[in-house]
Amino acid sequence: MRPAWAEISLDRLIQNYRLLSAAAGESGLIAVVKANAYGHGTLACAHALANAGAAWLGVTNAEEAIAVRATCPGARILVMSGLWEHEAEGAIEHRLTPVVWEPAHLEWLDAATREKQCATQSVAVHLEIDTGMARQGVRLADLPSFLERMQAAKALSLEGVMTHFHSPELLDGEATAAQMARLDAAMEIISARGFRPTVIHAGNSATVLANDGARSIGELAAKYGASAMLRPGLSLYGYPPRVSGEGASTEANELQPVLAWKTRVVSLRTIEAGESAGYNATFRAGRPSRLALLPVGYADGMNRLLSNRGEVLVRGQRAPIVGRISMDLTIVDVTDIPAVEMGDEVVLIGKQGTEQISAYDFADLAGTIPYEVLCNISARVRRVTLNASEDDV
Ligand SMILES: *Cc1c(COP(=O)(O)O)cnc(C)c1O
Repeated sequence: MRPAWAEISLDRLIQNYRLLSAAAGESGLIAVVKANAYGHGTLACAHALANAGAAWLGVTNAEEAIAVRATCPGARILVMSGLWEHEAEGAIEHRLTPVVWEPAHLEWLDAATREKQCATQSVAVHLEIDTGMARQGVRLADLPSFLERMQAAKALSLEGVMTHFHSPELLDGEATAAQMARLDAAMEIISARGFRPTVIHAGNSATVLANDGARSIGELAAKYGASAMLRPGLSLYGYPPRVSGEGASTEANELQPVLAWKTRVVSLRTIEAGESAGYNATFRAGRPSRLALLPVGYADGMNRLLSNRGEVLVRGQRAPIVGRISMDLTIVDVTDIPAVEMGDEVVLIGKQGTEQISAYDFADLAGTIPYEVLCNISARVRRVTLNASEDDV
């Protein structure tokens, strides 16, 4: 097989999960495994998390959820970004828990339940409230009429109410408090109509790792006789969000990256001073230079903006990326690293010796966020799950 792979430490994933559970205190967690578990491989991660006690898993759509259901028969699976018409039957069949906010979601689910003639068994749904993100969720003004439709959809039961914060990393900002206040106002309306949701959830990694993030959601839930949950994603994979302001908990420092992305040197050459490398000759050697070729390019998730900017680790040292990253290949300059050979292991993200390149380093150079870096490691990069003994990622 081609030497380009991502090592996934399930032990670290579990350690991170335990750390976040502790940080959330009384509140529960929905472990977010959407988008191929942020590039880490959904099935292995979901299975490991469920085994470690994660009762709830969060995914984007029904397709992801059905794949998770196959390995996690007992988990609750929250489908966070809505259902489309013909997914409703599958959602019921696979006991998924859809987040709903469009009247159409209710109609599709209600119709599919009746079609399946299981109207005696209600389908639990979670209602998203738009408290300021303006992306998904029912706006407060539309909530009364939505709840009327909810009442009419007899096959559905309102188990949960949720929202999503737009700036959870601003710890002493007003934004999250304002969104919490709108969620509270929504809960007033919901309970006044006789609904008694049993869970209320909000907040991402930043909220879990904020000192009073879990507490404030817990208090809101308790006010309505519900239990609270938070939905961490990125932090499960070992990257604490960058927060600003006072009130970050110390657990953030203990998270460990779960993924290491590696490859090998597959070719070497020496070019003369003045010669160029790569498309459009954007790198020109100022001295005789030894160049190593890596079998990964932007089709693997090596962001092209790292051309002439990024670094990789070879023999425990940093080697600069030279020239344009191409679709399938990247050139690095190993002139200053003695004795590099064909087959040497190269770290794109991870540790080698005392050096480390994190998804944050990679993201900063590419002008993006670690979420995108991790999700963009493409399907053709093999995911290798490590045993406990091989855990040195
Ligand atoms: C992705 C997502 C999360 C997780 O966010 P992180 O920043 O990765 O912790 C939580 N809730 C919802 C609705 C999401 O879409």
